[in-house]
Amino acid sequence: MEKQKFYVVGIGPGDRDQMTLKAYKTLQDVDIIAGYGTYIDLVKPFFPDKEYLQNGMTGEVKRCEMALAKAKEGKTVAMISSGDPGIYGMSGLVMELAKDMDIEVETIPGITAAASGASLLGAPLMHDFAVISLSDRLTEWETIKDRVKFASFADFIIVLYNPRSKGRPTLIDEARNIMLKSKAPETPVGLVKNIGRDGEEVILTTLSEMDIEDVDMFTTVFIGNKQTYIHNGRMITPRGYLEKKGKKS
Ligand code: SAH
Repeated sequence: MEKQKFYVVGIGPGDRDQMTLKAYKTLQDVDIIAGYGTYIDLVKPFFPDKEYLQNGMTGEVKRCEMALAKAKEGKTVAMISSGDPGIYGMSGLVMELAKDMDIEVETIPGITAAASGASLLGAPLMHDFAVISLSDRLTEWETIKDRVKFASFADFIIVLYNPRSKGRPTLIDEARNIMLKSKAPETPVGLVKNIGRDGEEVILTTLSEMDIEDVDMFTTVFIGNKQTYIHNGRMITPRGYLEKKGKKS
């Protein structure tokens, strides 16, 4: 007998147009769509007749266990994540919980916030970049601070996910102060909020001038490297082609 399939599906930033066709088709075909309430609300209008399984944000383990229990009953389930499910999403947890079950987990990738946000800013990620989550819910703050420190020291472009939580609103400020030890105060910063959702907004600023009140849980923060600049409202990190030809524009 074939193993029961279980899908972990990336829905992209939020709008239908930024969901891959494969993700869309998978969601169309499954029996049950499971996920965090906010993400269910995003996909429900496209699949109004589906059965849904949802719970709150911090109930990840319970949510996955419930969804896997449905799969064991013989239902085909899709667990959805915003962006890409393999990037701070649900893929890993589902695979860990299902590793000894007779269930085959398939991940359907999606457009992560670093990619959709970069496209709104211009071309900020044309060189090496580091993605760091500032959430200290599952990771020690000391570890996060080290990663911010060394990524800054190595002049990576830095993309911050989970930049602000209700419990620790000042993490982003602490991170900024660490970055300022290696990055210049005028380093370009792009804040991209609610990508593909109501309230989508792009804010261009600098590392020293960034207003932390502009940063919330639905914001992705882009901090440039030494070459990054802003021109006509676009944040650009040169890849190096023009410099190599010796005709910097
Ligand atoms: N799996 C997701 C990331 C989940 S972590 C992905 O691949 O995109 C949650 C963080 O991702 C948020 O705090 C925010 O920093 C970022 N994020 C996710 N969706 C976003 C959106 N639509 N607009 C802006 N930032 C977003």
